[in-house]
Amino acid sequence: MPRFDIAVVGLGAVGGAALLAGARAGAKIVGIDRFAPPHSFGSTHGETRIVRAAIGEGEAYTPFAQRSFELWDQLSAETGEKLVTRCGLLVLGGVLPHAMHVPAGFLETTIAAARSFGIAHDILNAAEVRTRFPAYKRFDGERAYFEPGAGYADPERVVAAQLKRAQALGADVRLNAVVTSVAKEGDTVIVHTAEETIRASHVVLAAGAWTPRFLPPDHARKLTITRQTLHWFAPPAGSADYEPARMPVFIWNDLYGFPVASPGGGVKVATESLHARADPDQVERDVKREDIEIVLPRVRAAFPSLGAHLRGATCLYTSTPDFNFWVGPHPEIAHVTVVSACSGHGFKHAAALGEAVIANAMSKSAVAIPKAWNLSAR
Ligand SMILES: Cc1cc2nc3c(=O)[nH]c(=O)nc-3n(C[C@H](O)[C@H](O)[C@H](O)COP(=O)(O)OP(=O)(O)OC[C@H]3O[C@@H](n4cnc5c(N)ncnc54)[C@H](O)[C@@H]3O)c2cc1C
Repeated sequence: MPRFDIAVVGLGAVGGAALLAGARAGAKIVGIDRFAPPHSFGSTHGETRIVRAAIGEGEAYTPFAQRSFELWDQLSAETGEKLVTRCGLLVLGGVLPHAMHVPAGFLETTIAAARSFGIAHDILNAAEVRTRFPAYKRFDGERAYFEPGAGYADPERVVAAQLKRAQALGADVRLNAVVTSVAKEGDTVIVHTAEETIRASHVVLAAGAWTPRFLPPDHARKLTITRQTLHWFAPPAGSADYEPARMPVFIWNDLYGFPVASPGGGVKVATESLHARADPDQVERDVKREDIEIVLPRVRAAFPSLGAHLRGATCLYTSTPDFNFWVGPHPEIAHVTVVSACSGHGFKHAAALGEAVIANAMSKSAVAIPKAWNLSAR
């Protein structure tokens, strides 16, 4: 039976980051995924993810976001891949806390985090927003937060680069291998796939929307898997207003979105759907007319110059009841860390989160994981 220091179950944004961190730290490590990441069945796909440093979901997240920027820069330099585009971020007034995963006071917490951590930012009035960033000509709120060092990451490229670099550093990878069980045996953990049985001293469980399958029912019930849809709209012909140089990523009422991220592409806009539970193996993967109808009136009101709906995609959130993370020990199996219930806002922290769970498993130092992120304790 192959024996490893660490086995990582799931190689999306979080598991891939853990695999890379383990390989960097010299661990004998294996990563296993039921598909061949990057793929479009989990939570880490769709061309862009907002990455920002001052975190309105709570100040405790900020060190993870900051460290993730450093780790992506390192990975970019090593692989030659452009992973992050720093086009800036606008939080346009008060975000709607009941419609989005964000808590009340999101704008105020964002500003407070920027001040406490010394993150470069400006507070703009509506006229300043409209003059500097014409795409937001409909913004008439009281104030906006602008973070110039923020922007978007390319999730597919990040996932691919993490795996490639981890393998170059000696990590083993098993793709298209479904982990069927994770169980304690003595002082180790046994991981079964259909093809093999692996023994590891520690397991990082980063299975995204499939995480509940590895949990006892009382914990599985606390996680809600929801289907989200993403939508790309045509920018006006001949206008540069929707290019990254002139359009920061944004969070505005119950919408968030991105400038045109690829030549000939569209402006990606989404809202969130937080309550209807989905099963990752049964979920409707196609974007339907009714999905478009939810977002369309909001897009037309906020961005009247945008044209046709070009395409859509679906994606999954794995959320806790209060939309904070769940990172902590498995409630029943010693030496297993549960890490990928990221409540729809995990990508920007994923690199540092992977590093932190590996550091804990190997008793090394990294950004400390807040105790409050352990769902078993709340
Ligand atoms: C539409 C959408 C928009 C988002 N926007 C943002 C954003 O702008 N900014 C931000 O910070 N965050 C954002 N997020 C959240 C962020 O993308 C996620 O928190 C993050 O990508 C989750 O990564 P993960 O590794 O936990 O999950 P995944 O990427 O889903 O990885 C889990 C992996 O586990 C594998 N797996 C599952 N079960 C098994 C098994 N039994 N055996 C082997 N492998 C298994 C899966 O195949 C998958 O590859 C968004 C999420 C969605 C869905």
